[in-house]
Amino acid sequence: MAGEGESTAAASASELARALASRPRHKQERVCVVCGKTFQGTAKAKYCSRAHASQAFYQRHKETAPNDG
Ligand SMILES: [Zn+2]
Repeated sequence: MAGEGESTAAASASELARALASRPRHKQERVCVVCGKTFQGTAKAKYCSRAHASQAFYQRHKETAPNDG
């Protein structure tokens, strides 16, 4: 059956997608907009860590920031 061939192709395509996703993409030296520290990240990366990403987010949206100070 041709169907079996297709399902095998789909499986390997999915594996390829996973491999590409886990593979480090074109990292370069970036500067964190929160702390100014340099770090290795993608061209789109703006923050050295998730903590600084959320910190920047809350600074931009102070009205909705949780008051757990
Ligand atoms: Zn930072």
